[in-house]
Amino acid sequence: MKIRKKTLFVSDGIEKPDPINPDAVRKFRQRKKKILSPEEYAEGIRNHDRIILSQAITLIESSLPSHRDLAARIIDICIPLSGNSLRIGITGVPGVGKSTFIESWGKMITGEGRKLAVLAIDPSSKRSGGSIMGDKTRMETLAQDPDAFIRPSPSGGSLGGVARKTKETIILCEAAGFDTVFVETTGVGQSETAVHSMVDFFLLLMLAGAGDELQGIKRGIMEMADAVVITKADGSNIHSAEIARTEFTNALHLYPPSESGWIPKVMICSAKNGQGLEEIWNTILSFEEFAKRSGYFQNNRNQQAITTMYDSINESLKSDFYNLQGITTKIEDYKKKILKNKISSYQAAHEILEYFLKRSYKRRDT
Ligand code: GDP
Repeated sequence: MKIRKKTLFVSDGIEKPDPINPDAVRKFRQRKKKILSPEEYAEGIRNHDRIILSQAITLIESSLPSHRDLAARIIDICIPLSGNSLRIGITGVPGVGKSTFIESWGKMITGEGRKLAVLAIDPSSKRSGGSIMGDKTRMETLAQDPDAFIRPSPSGGSLGGVARKTKETIILCEAAGFDTVFVETTGVGQSETAVHSMVDFFLLLMLAGAGDELQGIKRGIMEMADAVVITKADGSNIHSAEIARTEFTNALHLYPPSESGWIPKVMICSAKNGQGLEEIWNTILSFEEFAKRSGYFQNNRNQQAITTMYDSINESLKSDFYNLQGITTKIEDYKKKILKNKISSYQAAHEILEYFLKRSYKRRDT
């Protein structure tokens, strides 16, 4: 009996350690799951904690309703701490030299003791797709600057949605102590107007000698510019940059005067050798002084705040409408009726809206 027991006896041996450090797993899970309270996020932002700032921006960008609610509460707490920055929009066609310019100019600005946040608006951006704006290899030196914070464009979505997220991100960055904010966009679409509606100064970058079509830059964008900068004015390019400066100065004279009363300035610069960067910065500081003295600076911000309210209402209504359960089927039914000439487009729209209003009020009452 004893012998049988012995043969079946299994030695305890040495306990095999877990191949994964359980401590690390626990910590990782905790970190992953840990969602702070809105007050804790706001406190972290106020204390210039970049990790917390980035996490809060991620909440702004999230499409989860719980994240959106949390983000809204963080923004509410941060609003009184915001507003103390100079917001500068930077636009220009791809290849004009935006990222090179932002990197050199941004380094110069942080060198003067300012704290810079660089944000971007690019509705086509998909983070994993490696878009121009989201490309991590851009602005590498600036990205390592402790006084700079670079955040690529929120990925995908409508222009309205991306613009809203960027506006909210500006608030958090200001609350975190950034006194200069760049909002970059490519000069190819509607996004310039969106950027213009959230900045104090709008800078348009242009190439020299690119023909009189003004490089596909629409007249409206030229009209929005507070300054035009001809880029790459170095080496053999200097002469053509000088000519372009004269041409653009003449072209701008033909436009109606801007609402601020500021006369847009045309400058040349080289982000490669630093020529002209100081002049551009001084121009913006002069504008700030000019616009603050005249009251335009605050008026413009007030106007922007009102526009943001309307945009926000429009966006909420639209998303509530299209997200209402059953609305897609309803629309499809009415489309068929229109095509069969059973109903006019206007009557169809009217009935669909009536259905929406009834359903959404009923939902809220219950
Ligand atoms: P973006 O697409 O507008 O961001 O343009 P990039 O900053 O990527 O620049 C496009 C190209 O222009 C790159 O090859 C840069 O090296 C070049 N570039 C940018 N700035 C300058 C400049 O000041 N001088 C010269 N010579 N080339 C420049």
